[in-house]
Amino acid sequence: MTAFRGAVTLDGPSGTGKSSVARGVARQLGAAYLDTGAMYRAATVAVLDAGVDPQDAEAVARTVAAARIVVGTEAGSERVEVDGVDVAARIRGAEVTRWVSAVSAVPAVRRQLVAQQRELAGAADAVVVEGRDIGTVVLPDATLKVYLTAAPEIRAQRRAGQLGLRDPAEIDALAADLRRRDEYDSSRADSPLRPAADAVVVDSSDLDQQGVVDRVVALAEAALVTGDRT
Ligand code: C5P
Repeated sequence: MTAFRGAVTLDGPSGTGKSSVARGVARQLGAAYLDTGAMYRAATVAVLDAGVDPQDAEAVARTVAAARIVVGTEAGSERVEVDGVDVAARIRGAEVTRWVSAVSAVPAVRRQLVAQQRELAGAADAVVVEGRDIGTVVLPDATLKVYLTAAPEIRAQRRAGQLGLRDPAEIDALAADLRRRDEYDSSRADSPLRPAADAVVVDSSDLDQQGVVDRVVALAEAALVTGDRT
């Protein structure tokens, strides 16, 4: 088998197992890995730490423009920094999760981070990039575009499992939060969450994580063969 070269984009809503799948695919293909959600989360940390109202688009844009956001591109480790401070754990917290959709809906923030994402992806021979608008906006010429979905109740259960939640009321609140973010991300004016016209839609409801990784790797290898011939 020849080494994979090119870009695989993995978009879709929260709770589909996208991050674990993207890391698994990157490892199996020997590719770099970029988590663009981590970048929007890091931008949200900068906004919250500056004491700025996340709904004040102008102040958000100014704050994020001044922040130095650094993310790693290795599948095996997670490096996320804002102005030299490690925020890898903080970006997963409830406060950041609550505000990240508002920050990521600001067009100037998207322009800044999309430029950074293209630069990071362009520096690698092979890369797997995950997010919401990667196939539609960031890398429209990617070798393979995958849109990962799963039934809403399955997504809530998986997320609850990751967080170790058992209380039905907490699981209901989590399902409501997933729905809120999906609606916000799908209905925003700039780069809404939707599959690219040429994306392969993969439903992970009835597949385990390795099953999804295997399917995406097979699609990437097939796309490479097709691409070589053209
Ligand atoms: O993937 P993750 O759940 O970490 O993403 C957090 C949020 O960042 C999403 O809910 C979305 O609002 C935003 N995001 C985005 N565009 C991307 C990746 C994430 O707007 N490419």
